[in-house]
Amino acid sequence: MIEQLREAVCGLHAELVRYNLVAWTAGNVSGRVPGEDLFVIKPSGVSYDDLTPASMVVCDLDGNVVEGEHAPSSDTAAHAYVYRHMPEVGGVVHTHSTYASAWAARGEPIPCVLTAMADEFGGEIPIGPFALIGGDDIGRGIVEVLSGHRSPAVLMQNHGVFTIGGSAKAAVKAAVMCEDVARTVHVSRQLGEPLPIKQDDVDRLYDRYQNVYGQRSSR
Ligand SMILES: [Zn+2]
Repeated sequence: MIEQLREAVCGLHAELVRYNLVAWTAGNVSGRVPGEDLFVIKPSGVSYDDLTPASMVVCDLDGNVVEGEHAPSSDTAAHAYVYRHMPEVGGVVHTHSTYASAWAARGEPIPCVLTAMADEFGGEIPIGPFALIGGDDIGRGIVEVLSGHRSPAVLMQNHGVFTIGGSAKAAVKAAVMCEDVARTVHVSRQLGEPLPIKQDDVDRLYDRYQNVYGQRSSR
């Protein structure tokens, strides 16, 4: 099980590169080991080209290394905090993707002005508190904002994006979609004030997309 997850989490890092969400070694993906109090995360400071399944690090839910030759990502404490406090979460992603981080730098939530946003995020993409790395402040901010929120993405003020999902792949998808809508809404703003979508319609779009859209087996 852990070997499969090492491979999956390693492979998902290539998606961050493919969708242009990361620069240098910034950004990371983790996945919870099903049925165990463990998760697999990217090693710290290793180039994306050099990541291998064997270089992934296995940590316990306090962020201690259980298995692996490398030090884990410097964001490990934040991932661990999320896994400890949100048992439904199976994957966490962090990026400094350009447009989403530009909203984060302004401390402004991304308003729900696209049907694709209503589908994926069920409303606006919220802002989390300013928090310094080290300790539990980032993790606490993520959990406080996303608990009970439809959005699987939070923009941590002056920092970047954290996304959660039922799996590592779902969290990566949320990171890709977050950057996509952050860019489109930003461009729209350059042209004038985007039109809001009525809450009723947001609710209907979200419900349809989450429950009806796509292939049943892939959800
Ligand atoms: Zn960061």
